[in-house]
Amino acid sequence: MRGCRRCGCGAARPASRTATPFTCSFVPRYAKYTIAQLRSLDSALREEVWPELSGGKLPDEGQVERWFWEGLASEAEARILYSSDLEGTAFPESGTYGEHAWSLARLANHERSLLRFVEYSIPGVNAPMLYFGMLFSMFCWHVEDNYMYSVSYLHEGAPKTWYGVSPANASEFDRVFKTRGFPDQVAADPQLLLKKSSMLPPSLLLEEGVPVSRVVQRPGQFVVTLPQAYHAGFSHGANTAEAVNFMLADWLPYARLSMAAYRALRREPVLDIEQLVVQAALDSHSAEVEHEAQDLVAEELRLRRQLRKSGCVEQLMEPKDRLYALGRGPPCFVCGHVCHLSFAQLGVDRSHGTSHSPRTEACLLHAAELAEGAAEGGGPLTLFTRYDDAWLQQLPRRGKYAASATLQPPAEVPRYHSVAALAALAAPKPSGEKLKKQKVRR
Ligand SMILES: [Zn+2]
Repeated sequence: MRGCRRCGCGAARPASRTATPFTCSFVPRYAKYTIAQLRSLDSALREEVWPELSGGKLPDEGQVERWFWEGLASEAEARILYSSDLEGTAFPESGTYGEHAWSLARLANHERSLLRFVEYSIPGVNAPMLYFGMLFSMFCWHVEDNYMYSVSYLHEGAPKTWYGVSPANASEFDRVFKTRGFPDQVAADPQLLLKKSSMLPPSLLLEEGVPVSRVVQRPGQFVVTLPQAYHAGFSHGANTAEAVNFMLADWLPYARLSMAAYRALRREPVLDIEQLVVQAALDSHSAEVEHEAQDLVAEELRLRRQLRKSGCVEQLMEPKDRLYALGRGPPCFVCGHVCHLSFAQLGVDRSHGTSHSPRTEACLLHAAELAEGAAEGGGPLTLFTRYDDAWLQQLPRRGKYAASATLQPPAEVPRYHSVAALAALAAPKPSGEKLKKQKVRR
């Protein structure tokens, strides 16, 4: 349960008629609320905002939307609860609905979904989450982790208004967010958008030439968001929704973009894309995966050759490295990239702890940053690999399906690692301590 408190509690009349950007201070509350309590809070707020409505009548959709942007976004006071991110599903395990392909408890693991190759459970990603909303419960502008597809189902209750921006306009959205929406806040905190706490009125985006789609979702309806499609919205009253991620093969170019974006921000990604591509290729998932595996292997082998030229020593990863973070691999100390296929470190000793040196692994792109330490006597630069070159070379296999992408690919698909390097170098460098403390979210 979390509350979005703009000011406090009380008055309820739009103080402004201008839609303005606003940020929410989400206050996590771990108090237990029953659904009945949430609904009575919803009724109380609705009566405060629209005292003329009686008998639990819902305001019309235009009224809710106007109030959301002109009243809530102004200095009118509001306190809204949103019971979000609760692990679970409201689909039954069996029967017509439970066994239906669109049951969200099954969708992430559908045969065509690449998400089924993630072998551990990540709630809200490959396991559904439930959301209990009330009037004005909102989800602020965001894209999905690693630019995945998402699907949301409204089980029951009041409608939800959604706004969406096409992946083709994602960089334009970023520009408006930074320049017109929250210039000062972004300057102070470059990761503001990732905090999912900022609301930008669609009218401002339209003014800046960014097309915005709008849909009102009613009970029994699904809303699907595309990779790298920014979206936001709010509830019209008490309701119950459920959401999960999935990926089709046409997501793969977006996966590369997301890798570059995480590296630019020096954040460990939610998904280990290298592991996913390897597993999907071993399963001969599709022609798209075969193509992706070819590119991934070519870049990996190129970087290995480069490192070997510098005179590193080499050995296979130890079992504890292969199993690190449920088989993902350690994060790079510079960019946070999950080093699944290989990593570099100074020396060959893999002992870590209070009596040993701190954990410092680098992706092959940032191995040069370790090499400086080697010159100062930190031991030889060592390349640790999960698979040898010969094994990787035979990985791309003929896929089961012909290419069938329906999604427009990004205008520019980065090569594995190369664009990321430039982006990462341009970003401010956080302290090493922070990176070491990053944990895999699951
Ligand atoms: Zn790195």
